[in-house]
Amino acid sequence: MHPTLAKDFESLPSLLYQAMSLSADYLDGLNEHPVSRPAPVTAETTLPEDGVGTTGALKAFYATHANTVVASSGPRYWGFVTGGTTPAAIAGDWLSTVFDQNTQSTKGPGGSTAAVEVETIGLLLDLLGLPATFQGGFVTGATMANFTGLAVARQWAGRQLGFDAARSGVQPGIVVLSATPHSSAVKALSLLGLGSSNIIPLRTLDADREALDPADLEEKLEQYKHSAVILVSSGGTVNSVDFDDMTAIAGLRGRYRFYWHVDAAFGAFAALSPGHRPLLEGWDAADSIAVDCHKWMNVPYDSAFYLVRKEHASLQVQTFQNSNAPYLGDPEADFTYLNFGPENSRRFRALPVWISLQAYGRSGFRWMVEHSIERAQSFARRLAGETPFRVCAPVHLNVVCFTIPGADAGALTAVLDILNARGRVFFTPSAYRGTPCIRAAFVNWRTTEPDIDIAIGELRAAAGQLSGTATED
Ligand SMILES: *Cc1c(COP(=O)(O)O)cnc(C)c1O
Repeated sequence: MHPTLAKDFESLPSLLYQAMSLSADYLDGLNEHPVSRPAPVTAETTLPEDGVGTTGALKAFYATHANTVVASSGPRYWGFVTGGTTPAAIAGDWLSTVFDQNTQSTKGPGGSTAAVEVETIGLLLDLLGLPATFQGGFVTGATMANFTGLAVARQWAGRQLGFDAARSGVQPGIVVLSATPHSSAVKALSLLGLGSSNIIPLRTLDADREALDPADLEEKLEQYKHSAVILVSSGGTVNSVDFDDMTAIAGLRGRYRFYWHVDAAFGAFAALSPGHRPLLEGWDAADSIAVDCHKWMNVPYDSAFYLVRKEHASLQVQTFQNSNAPYLGDPEADFTYLNFGPENSRRFRALPVWISLQAYGRSGFRWMVEHSIERAQSFARRLAGETPFRVCAPVHLNVVCFTIPGADAGALTAVLDILNARGRVFFTPSAYRGTPCIRAAFVNWRTTEPDIDIAIGELRAAAGQLSGTATED
């Protein structure tokens, strides 16, 4: 064995304790760790011939690149939709690494952790109140979950039109409808050869909504009834967390044939709150659904799952079957994830989710969801009294969009620059129906009311600094 590797191997437990101790220190200081930091400027690209061992490498990382890490899993990182990590999820994720399984088969003999994955999907269906008519699997994020669902949609659409998209490529006749798709669904259309600019936009309900207008959907379904239609619907848009009317969409299925995909990356978890569950009513009739675990479930990156109706298993296998290698057997009877999703080798991604579900149960996750919604509502209420800021989109769930009336994107960037230099609260820029805004998304279990106080204080400081600059000018 290589001498450095041999030495590391001898001291493996102590190295793991070192990593644990670094982890505990980091998590202990997480609330005060900066949420934004300037980008590092130097990159070393010459690799030394001999290594320094794990202890040396850990020291080197802390000495050089530790400042690239921000408290994105902490309580005041409200940019994008960024979840944190619960103790159970960290423990499960660590063990996934330690076990290092290639999770494909449910049966073995070469390992059967996929059986745990199948079970975890069953638990998630139960958590979300979805029927067992779906089968699912883990992927890296909702981007890949959207990709998987839309890949099945593509195969379905090809079959409607008399071609096999997986084998022969895409031919004309596929129509994609959507009102406010997430950028990742658009990217999936690009990856699938359907074309990211080929979406036929659906009208939204009215000027202040991002949800599709079911009347317009019906008109388009009538208009395109001789094409193969794929509907990409939103179970929570990123700006106002608006939900397409799932009951209305489900109702149209009786009269029109179309493939229905739901992007519910984080909105799926509204199902856990009795007060918000009606937002998803009807979604169980969808053909496929995409959900993230690294957002509102507070499982570390990267973790998401797709759900596809079991009746589409052949379409799914036609799309994802990994060559015709004879050792695969009958892909549907001899189930392996290899033939059902985009990846071949796959991490035991279900484990942190399984451990989290067992650790906190339904009530734990319901608390996480309701707690986040309350924080969003509270932040929006507090902003109402904070000149010059104004909430500029409906707060349907757990995201708050706000702006400075009359400000352009540049002025808002100036606010964000000040906040980022201070490093205590992190927001991302966005635009709500054309108006530049700042977005705050609440999904982290650690966020408390005092964090809202800190954020309001930071916004006051930024506003003060801005008007100070203006006066000096
Ligand atoms: C975050 C998000 C995605 C993309 O998910 P990733 O986990 O970043 O791949 C898709 N749709 C919606 C609505 C999202 O919020």
